[in-house]
Amino acid sequence: MALSKNVGTCFLCHKIISNIKIARHLNDCVKKDAEINSKENKPTKIFRIKIFSNKTFWLYVEMPSDASLQYLDDFLRAIWLECCGHLSEFNVLGSGRYSKNETIEHIFKKGIAFSYEYDFGSTTLLQGEIIDCYYGHLDKKIRLLARNNMPVLKCTTCSSRSKYICSSCYRLCCSQCCQQHKCAKEGMLPIVNSPRMGICKYMGELEETRETN
Ligand SMILES: [Zn+2]
Ligand SMILES: [Zn+2]
Ligand SMILES: [Zn+2]
Ligand SMILES: [Zn+2]
Repeated sequence: MALSKNVGTCFLCHKIISNIKIARHLNDCVKKDAEINSKENKPTKIFRIKIFSNKTFWLYVEMPSDASLQYLDDFLRAIWLECCGHLSEFNVLGSGRYSKNETIEHIFKKGIAFSYEYDFGSTTLLQGEIIDCYYGHLDKKIRLLARNNMPVLKCTTCSSRSKYICSSCYRLCCSQCCQQHKCAKEGMLPIVNSPRMGICKYMGELEETRETN
């Protein structure tokens, strides 16, 4: 389905890294970053979290243990999901659902997996995994470490680069095939770097997250 390699960007060193190597890369890169920032303040407990949808869409974040699930919810909505304020829910494997006010310290542990659903009608399902837990310095409630680069996806009809996704039948269309497509033209949505592309008029991430990347 993809014409491009599955690579992403590490936002600490700005290198392009493959999806297979990114987890190990972050181990080293976060350590280096921690050494630079390890002067003053008392270190806090930090979780490194991977969130993904299939193999195509993935990102890694860091959160201090005193942050609530709400920060993760807000972040995921802004970067990947928000179309019209649907409900969402976290479900931690083996221990169930949690209120978003709960701090992650009480929920997360290294190795734990969770799922996250946005919109209970046309649901976008994400998977999460707690990759690591360590002490360090973090001046935010959530920090984006790395994210997959925009994938180049094939047109379902002719295999050239697709530009749009049909929100009725989910076929990917290049500019030419888009003209001949049988479904309503209004249903054509842009291909964006998100597992929610093509669903419920989703147009891409909110401006504010683009600036911080
Ligand atoms: Zn790096
Ligand atoms: Zn919506
Ligand atoms: Zn085409
Ligand atoms: Zn269609």
